[in-house]
Amino acid sequence: MSAALPGSLAGKRGLILGIANEHSIATGCAKAFAAQGAVLAATYLNEKAKPFVAAVTDHLPCEIFLPCDVEAPGQLEAVFDAVAQHWGRLDFLLHSIAFAPAADLQGRVVDCSATGFARAMDISCHSFLRAARLAEPLMKDGGALLAMTYQGSERVIPHYGLMGPVKAALESVVRYVAVELGPKGIRANALSPGPIATRAASGIAHFSDLLETATHASPERRLVTIEDCGTLAAYLVSDAARMLTGTIIPVDGGEHLLGV
Ligand code: NAD
Repeated sequence: MSAALPGSLAGKRGLILGIANEHSIATGCAKAFAAQGAVLAATYLNEKAKPFVAAVTDHLPCEIFLPCDVEAPGQLEAVFDAVAQHWGRLDFLLHSIAFAPAADLQGRVVDCSATGFARAMDISCHSFLRAARLAEPLMKDGGALLAMTYQGSERVIPHYGLMGPVKAALESVVRYVAVELGPKGIRANALSPGPIATRAASGIAHFSDLLETATHASPERRLVTIEDCGTLAAYLVSDAARMLTGTIIPVDGGEHLLGV
């Protein structure tokens, strides 16, 4: 019987998908998980991205470090194979990845191509399902799955375009996964951060306008940070959040209350 406090992640093992560099939301989460005592596995997109991800994971208790492009056949499976061999189990999984082809992202949703739509949906949404399916047999004593969404799923946010419908699908998927895996003690939730200047965000046109709007719309007139996301993420994957599942949790300083 562990004497760890409910919010502690001591003894827990977590897989992080989505660190690109020190500014990534996944980086804020990984640091918070480690600060609560978790040991980690992390992935990098490709050889070009590897040194930027390693610059983060080298300072963390990261025991497994592998490439994972969710479009590359077999790579996600290889990561879970490594987790199975090295740890034999998994306690939590962070899915913090998204992509849409620039031409489709920056045009009207009405005009997006079928291939661009399918690719954005595959990388940003269906890969969460694939990861959940692979995590299921490893979460023998239950576990926690966490995705990253954005309020562009519910409201039309200028220039968020195609990612809006994709995030709406992701949120729905989180709810279905929560119900389907709940009997095994596996929870699924999503954080919905306000805008943060990351690499992915730089693909959204006029992103600085979004930051400015968010600052004005948040009751405390402040923007969310990756550290804020990490604090909440660490709570959500801990046993302290055992009654929270299928929930989309805004971490935006209340911007969604007044969002314009
Ligand atoms: P980021 O660029 O740091 O992270 C995006 C990650 O997606 C990168 O690590 C990238 O390698 C990964 N990725 C893209 N295509 C991939 C593929 N084919 N296979 C594997 N990984 C792939 O940006 P971020 O803002 O930290 O994004 C993380 C998550 O947070 C995304 O789901 C994003 O939509 C969401 N989010 C971001 C904001 C924001 O304002 N930055 C707000 C709300 C939600």
